[in-house]
Amino acid sequence: MAPASVIMSRRDLQFLLYEWLDVCTLSTRERFAEHSRETFDAVLELGADIATEHFATHNKKADQNEPYLDSDGKVVLIDEVKQALEVFVEAGLMAGQLDASLGGMQLPNVVAKALQMWFHAANVGTTVYPFLTMANAHLLIAYGSPEQVRTFVEPMIAGRFFGTMCLSEPQAGSSLADITTRAVPQDDGTYRLTGTKMWISAGDHELTENIVHLVLAKIPGGPAGVKGISLFIVPKFLVEPDGNLGERNDVSLVGLNHKMGYRGGTNTLLNFGEGAHTPGGRAGAVGHLLGEKHHGLAYMFHMMNEARVGVGLGATALGYTGYLHALDYARTRTQGRLPGDKDPSTPAVPIIEHADVRRMLLAQKSYVEGGLALGLYCSLLVDEQDTAVDVADRERAALLLDVLTPIAKSWPSQWCLEANNLAIQVHGGYGYTRDYDVEQFYRDNRLNPIHEGTHGIHGLDLLGRKVTMRGGAGLSLLLDTAETTVHRAAQVGGELAQLGAQLHAVLERIAKTTATLHGVGEPNAALANATVYLEAVGHAVVAWMWLEQLLAAEGKSGDFYDGKRQAGRYFFRWELPRTGPQLDLLGSVDTTLLDTDPDWL
Ligand SMILES: Cc1cc2nc3c(=O)[nH]c(=O)nc-3n(C[C@H](O)[C@H](O)[C@H](O)COP(=O)(O)OP(=O)(O)OC[C@H]3O[C@@H](n4cnc5c(N)ncnc54)[C@H](O)[C@@H]3O)c2cc1C
Repeated sequence: MAPASVIMSRRDLQFLLYEWLDVCTLSTRERFAEHSRETFDAVLELGADIATEHFATHNKKADQNEPYLDSDGKVVLIDEVKQALEVFVEAGLMAGQLDASLGGMQLPNVVAKALQMWFHAANVGTTVYPFLTMANAHLLIAYGSPEQVRTFVEPMIAGRFFGTMCLSEPQAGSSLADITTRAVPQDDGTYRLTGTKMWISAGDHELTENIVHLVLAKIPGGPAGVKGISLFIVPKFLVEPDGNLGERNDVSLVGLNHKMGYRGGTNTLLNFGEGAHTPGGRAGAVGHLLGEKHHGLAYMFHMMNEARVGVGLGATALGYTGYLHALDYARTRTQGRLPGDKDPSTPAVPIIEHADVRRMLLAQKSYVEGGLALGLYCSLLVDEQDTAVDVADRERAALLLDVLTPIAKSWPSQWCLEANNLAIQVHGGYGYTRDYDVEQFYRDNRLNPIHEGTHGIHGLDLLGRKVTMRGGAGLSLLLDTAETTVHRAAQVGGELAQLGAQLHAVLERIAKTTATLHGVGEPNAALANATVYLEAVGHAVVAWMWLEQLLAAEGKSGDFYDGKRQAGRYFFRWELPRTGPQLDLLGSVDTTLLDTDPDWL
């Protein structure tokens, strides 16, 4: 048998997909009718092989050789990035979820996301190019005209064009209402854009013939704030009606950002319409409106749930590979003896024998396997929302996904980063060196609580919007669904029933605390502690995910299932109780933060 991978766990993915989520039943739906366990396994195995052989192999090199600009101002990347991406495209993976009519595989979202775990864990830097392109293509397919799909998406599938998402500006990150990029309508139906976009991942490179930027901008005279934002397709090179590349568009690279991690991925400051290029003889970046005017942010947000669940899964992937590396190290590194053994002539034990190292490994296991369960559960909700036969089931899935999204993004970004921190600790001094891989995983993962909405912004989203929307229907649905699991655990009895009762008590407190917070009638006071709320609800949701996994493992024997039971037990005994003091604080509607004068800090 091949040694287990330290990139990702095939066994855990199989358990979650087939023994828990039962994804094969999706093939009863028309869209997935061509699929079966065999096709899912084949694509997962293909992804695992490509990630292992072509992505993981240059992860460290890409980190140590970050992109730079040559004397012509062109972005230089190590050759392995392009080679890996060619293999990725050649295997048809750009079109995994797309329609067969576009040459796609029509994979369910949940399987596509499981596949992506291999790439995120193997090499986040190189992965950013195709995955941003796929997100871009999905948006174009959802809202673009058939001509826009033909012009821009088909070359993306072929790997000739890559895509970006241009939302942030130097002065507008969390608050997109304040973007100032302008798009002025032209007589020929196009727009001319001017403005500066900051932090644009994959914003410039020589990997492909063209780069398709999706840019948020305001059309002068439109409504103020987010309601006045529209979405534009702005290619680096204009595309002629016959599909050939035309003039260079007025999009210029101002510079590269030098990041703490994710170094293999180019990150850029871009100027639109500064006049460095003059398409049609004049300055202004030529853009094509995507969908309708003033709906830009809504379109972005439509895709955002999926993107945010994807960020959570990316954080999980880095936590997961860190855990597997730490586990491998702890089994072979020897050091000291157990407290009861005072005889220095006895051999040193592998550090996995020390209780405190097991604490760190169990914590990592409970975070990464809990995070993976949550991410795949939400990914399946996307499939339910899009393809469930019953309209009521689709609506239910959409509502549950909506309320879970801030948690699915933020919880793994916090706790799987903590898993990376613990993986360094398990390695001791070696973990702090660049000779080992775990310090890079930590640096790479540190991005995840920052982008796609910061941790704080997701707290506000959950407490300020998601749990109150539709008269609290989202929160009720979340709590009721978790209670169904508690009920199933009660029917099994024994330890599962006890864990279920523990979860039930926390769920009840969350319902009460939410009512208290919103009952004070003082939004600033309620929302001042929104991050604590996000973290408490997050731990309860992951405890629910653990109870689900324990139910799926019930009655099954062997190390794998025993490991699930022990990690689940750990989560309930060591982690879920963290919610007690958090809910106490929230229930008191504490105003310490509000009462702090900025001059005191
Ligand atoms: C490596 C990297 C890649 C990125 N890729 C892209 C990309 O491809 N496309 C793109 O458009 N953007 C991208 N971003 C931008 C990213 O989404 C923003 O950095 C993020 O939205 C935060 O914006 P900001 O950096 O301006 O921070 P700010 O919004 O200034 O936030 C600073 C701090 O203030 C807090 N804060 C801000 N507003 C509030 C509030 N109302 N209430 C409470 N706290 C608040 C934040 O939580 C944060 O802690 C990327 C960023 C990085 C670092």
